[in-house]
Amino acid sequence: MEIYRIEAFQDNYIFVLHDADRHEAAVVDPGDAGPVLRQLEHLGATLTAIFNTHHHSDHVGGNRQLLDQFPAAQVYGGVEDRGRIPGQTHWLEDGDRVSFGDRPALVIFVPGHTRAHIAYYFAPVSSDGWGELFCGDTLFAGGCGRLFEGTPQQMLTSLTKLRQLPDTTRVWCAHEYTLNNLRFAITVDSGNPTLRARLEQVQADRAHHRPTVPADLGLEKQTNPFLRWDVAALQQAVDSTAAVQTFARLRGKKDLF
Ligand code: ZN
Ligand code: FE
Repeated sequence: MEIYRIEAFQDNYIFVLHDADRHEAAVVDPGDAGPVLRQLEHLGATLTAIFNTHHHSDHVGGNRQLLDQFPAAQVYGGVEDRGRIPGQTHWLEDGDRVSFGDRPALVIFVPGHTRAHIAYYFAPVSSDGWGELFCGDTLFAGGCGRLFEGTPQQMLTSLTKLRQLPDTTRVWCAHEYTLNNLRFAITVDSGNPTLRARLEQVQADRAHHRPTVPADLGLEKQTNPFLRWDVAALQQAVDSTAAVQTFARLRGKKDLF
């Protein structure tokens, strides 16, 4: 399975999964159909699946137009998103299994950004391989999604699930927010040398318009403040030791950053 990253709108990423042997493709969160159709044409692939993480228009806005071209494509989304995802054919719950080509994926229910948000995790195919996590607007490189429909407790639970995945997981998040996220991170975790080095790297990357997605989950665990609510430095930064309160205060500070 090859993964292609497509830029859309201001700062969205859409991901096309390609099974070259079967000449089939799937797409994750097609907010816009145009660039996806161009990629499919370039690959000479038939679209068989749309994997949506949540109902926001920058993630589902291209569904209808893609279905016009590929009416047999299956449309996956969370069960709680019933009625909110155009063309949805499969309503997924935590622990469900889906597949693309020969690759199975685990569905992880991750409410918080919205009340229905799900993520898709493709486990590695070999013991030394990488897993692929498509997490929409839940976990970002260096940050996490805003809480539009969920509570801090829900988001904390969701991020706890994602934090349990192996370090060798690529994080395919749906927005290029990394530089701003890390600029915030350094304000609450200034003594973290790994974070400082990452911020410098990302500053250089963005100065040259290089994408910072996919991120590396092992590095996220060391540098993303929203995976580090139980680390003393972050607890001190928001004067709290209770997990939910620490997380909520970090998220609140970020909202104002
Ligand atoms: Zn969203
Ligand atoms: Fe979004």
